[in-house]
Amino acid sequence: MNKLLPTSTAGSLPKPSWLSEPEKLWSPWKLEGEALIEGKQDALRVTLMEQQVAGIDIVSDGEQTRQHFVTTFIEGLDGVDFEKRETVKIRDRYDASVPTVVSAVSRPKSVFVEDAKFLRSQTKAPIKWALPGPMTMIDTLYDAHYKSREKLAWEFAKLLNEEAKELEAAGVDIIQFDEPAFNVFFDEVNDWGMATLERAMEGLKCQTAVHICYGYGIKANTDWKKTLGSEWRQYELIFPSIQKSSVDLVSLECHNSHVPLDLIELIRGKKVMVGSIDVANKPIETPEEVADTLRKALQFVDADKLYPCTNCGMAPLSREVARGKLNALSAGAEIVRRELQA
Ligand SMILES: [Zn+2]
Repeated sequence: MNKLLPTSTAGSLPKPSWLSEPEKLWSPWKLEGEALIEGKQDALRVTLMEQQVAGIDIVSDGEQTRQHFVTTFIEGLDGVDFEKRETVKIRDRYDASVPTVVSAVSRPKSVFVEDAKFLRSQTKAPIKWALPGPMTMIDTLYDAHYKSREKLAWEFAKLLNEEAKELEAAGVDIIQFDEPAFNVFFDEVNDWGMATLERAMEGLKCQTAVHICYGYGIKANTDWKKTLGSEWRQYELIFPSIQKSSVDLVSLECHNSHVPLDLIELIRGKKVMVGSIDVANKPIETPEEVADTLRKALQFVDADKLYPCTNCGMAPLSREVARGKLNALSAGAEIVRRELQA
């Protein structure tokens, strides 16, 4: 991107109410068969237009074609039984009923590539595509086959790499791996988590990103955040590994969080997608509030490497609130852009 402070979003955006029930995660589809395929494409067109009207520079599909950022990818794989469910603690935080790994995992065919090609056909703007990271995938499953988190993560990394290479060939400019689990399992990240992410990114020529947040604005996450104290220093434990890695962009939660922004100094040199929009509350930020977060981040990120973004996905918000927040992001970035160019 030649533009200073190019804006983007971390991931999901709300779906239209005719496609699935709004303001809900894992919301079931309201359409079936051909109508569902057409409905998903129409929703993708709408979300693309909304991003462009708001002035978002790096656009995405807003995850309109997937029910969930992790499980939809896993549904496309063999070796996982969605009928056989076990309750596990996700991110060491909340219980969820998850599918079971019953045999060796494989990817019989691409999962998102047709959707990515469709998005590519609809816009000339740079596009970003999100995939779950290996560690976050294993944390959303019960493993009755490998019985080793590390082994399963390496297997998923290989499959993610195949998918990522096809997304790159489809014209995706930035492939983002969502790794909220990096913010919980620090020892594992440093032992093998970062290495498995490197495996997932191996050989890619497009830009790569990793998104590490404190989760969607759902109750389990907001309750957890209340236990984290006044300073959230989780990033400090993993940034040295990220600094050494080959990942190009790092997407972080910064706005309204208790993350000391000087931690970003630890990844100096990386491009940083600075979360300047809170996705866990409904009040819409003012452009000045967004600008304020960006100015603070500029102390630790070189201006040509700062990418204003949202803290996380906005799927659980209403469309109206999400639109307002996209507009605020864009307007706030423009304030700082002008200051930098003055
Ligand atoms: Zn997130």
